[in-house]
Amino acid sequence: MNTYDSERMAGELSAAGYELAGSEAQSDYVIVNTCSVRQHAEDRAMSFIGAAVKDKKVIVAGCMAQRMKEELLTKFPRLHAVVGTFNFSNIADVMEYGRSKLYVDDINERYTKNLKRADKLRASVAVMQGCDNFCSYCIVPYVRGRERSREAAGIMDELRSLASEGFKEITLLGQNVNSYFDKTSGMDFAALLREAAKIQGLEFIRFMTSHPKDLSDELISAIAQTPKVCRHIHLPMQAGSDRVLELMNRKYTAAWYSGRIDKIREIMPDCAVTSDILVGFPGETEEDFSRTVEMVERSRFDAAYIFKYSLRKGTKAEAMGGSVSEKEKLKRLNIVLEIQKKISEDITKQYIGRPIKALIYTKSLWEPGFVEAIAGSSKKILISGGSELIGRIVMIKIKSAKGAMLSGEITG
Ligand code: SAH
Ligand code: SF4
Repeated sequence: MNTYDSERMAGELSAAGYELAGSEAQSDYVIVNTCSVRQHAEDRAMSFIGAAVKDKKVIVAGCMAQRMKEELLTKFPRLHAVVGTFNFSNIADVMEYGRSKLYVDDINERYTKNLKRADKLRASVAVMQGCDNFCSYCIVPYVRGRERSREAAGIMDELRSLASEGFKEITLLGQNVNSYFDKTSGMDFAALLREAAKIQGLEFIRFMTSHPKDLSDELISAIAQTPKVCRHIHLPMQAGSDRVLELMNRKYTAAWYSGRIDKIREIMPDCAVTSDILVGFPGETEEDFSRTVEMVERSRFDAAYIFKYSLRKGTKAEAMGGSVSEKEKLKRLNIVLEIQKKISEDITKQYIGRPIKALIYTKSLWEPGFVEAIAGSSKKILISGGSELIGRIVMIKIKSAKGAMLSGEITG
């Protein structure tokens, strides 16, 4: 979502006559697009901003700007401007007016048409913004506002124009993408996927993030029946203990979550499932944590992001007792990481010998003479070859696996 927001700002600024600098050293302005999900991200942004304001005009954009507002101007007297999550489309004004005006009002942000996308093959398209779920640990509803879905007609126009520009892969974005609903057309997310798949030229349709409570049978069927929709669902589990899930306000139980995974695999045995896991939530006991471990073992995720709980001011969890020590959180994080690493490697190995359809999208950054392809499952594959292959959709026979990376040969 942040990458997408950066592309929106770059688009607005290009239209206003600004140019993207090749590097920070060559730039006149530095826009720092920030994340507030965890303290660590904020700490890193703070030290970056602190160093950059010394010799550049710095603009702080995004979630931290929305959360801290004028506090940022006080903290950094040389800061050029602050622009929150509802005002990206005003970025040209922000540059001009600087700190004389604060751009943090909670308005319904319009969708920008002229994005300056970083890539030519793979694009993200926001279909909804905000979140109404208020998971007790999470800052997103406070900095991104209430959930609002974009009109399907506008989304389809944008997708068609991306297809005509040669984009092959699109990712439909939302904080809670599967609760998408357009009142004007009556389309829900399953209908949106089916419509998007009709657009010629788009070959890989992805989406994120899905909330387990909104993953309906109808949506699973829509994915299964629509070959262009990638066989990959990112379905954050967070925790395995029902007691913790309730404290988190996740609105599902471990049994419901397992049931969703079983349903996905029953209908689409080849569908990759990835997840987010949060360890050390306030009051998480050893017993609660062992439920998370069991669920990670049972779910056999293709991959998972594992996070230590980070206290966010103003959330419900801030007032909850029973904080888990940093040392214990780290211990739990490492236990889950270790288990998941083995599962991910096992799953990756199962691809050896199999044919995979994938989009070649970049030269390899690590292996000279190789390009990288991405499959519907989001698995990355190294293939020998040069940049003339970029943009091709090919069948690949997988020869070997190393960590999360596959290697193969083009067969067609
Ligand atoms: N809307 C998505 C997640 C958005 S935030 C969903 O509901 O699944 C991405 C991930 O960051 C979350 O899944 C969660 O695992 C993690 N996260 C959110 N708040 C956090 C916090 N306070 N501390 C640590 N991790 C957090
Ligand atoms: Fe945060 Fe929960 Fe909304 Fe995801 S669903 S953005 S975790 S509040």
